[in-house]
Amino acid sequence: MAVREILIHPDEVLQQVAKPVLFPLSAEVEQLITDMADTMYDAPGVGLAAPQVGALLRLAITDTVWRDKEVRHDGAKAGEQRELKVWINPEITWASNEMEEWEEGCLSVPDTYGDVSRPAAIRLRWFDQQGVVHEQEFRGFQAVALQHEFDHLDGKLFIDYLSPLKRKMITKKMKKLYKS
Ligand SMILES: [Zn+2]
Repeated sequence: MAVREILIHPDEVLQQVAKPVLFPLSAEVEQLITDMADTMYDAPGVGLAAPQVGALLRLAITDTVWRDKEVRHDGAKAGEQRELKVWINPEITWASNEMEEWEEGCLSVPDTYGDVSRPAAIRLRWFDQQGVVHEQEFRGFQAVALQHEFDHLDGKLFIDYLSPLKRKMITKKMKKLYKS
């Protein structure tokens, strides 16, 4: 288990644009992915992007199964089953005009939630750890989680979608609590 430190807003690394991951993956990147999974499950969270642990790479992981009862149909209790997904150099190639609002939170903005409206469905192209390209459509909670994570790769947080006043209040609260 190697849990890495999660950067907290307003850390400036969280506002930077991440660089593409090169293939074949280096031992460092393989280790980063393993550590990110440990960090996400430990937090606990349903997604984590590399910049959140200080690595400015276009890489994110999600597991929208293990804690989300709504997407489970096999009767197992949340936490019993894991479905770790690794997204490398992801690119949203299409987004629906139809929007959907979800309450979002972020491990880099602890104990803070806000309603964010995003496209209800997306088509995604990404690479797996072997460097194989995939393309698939997603909707619902997974589509929201992916868009949230990939925003991190462009230095964007969910609070950027909230009103300037609300964002300011959150930033103030984070500075006070975490002294970054
Ligand atoms: Zn986040």
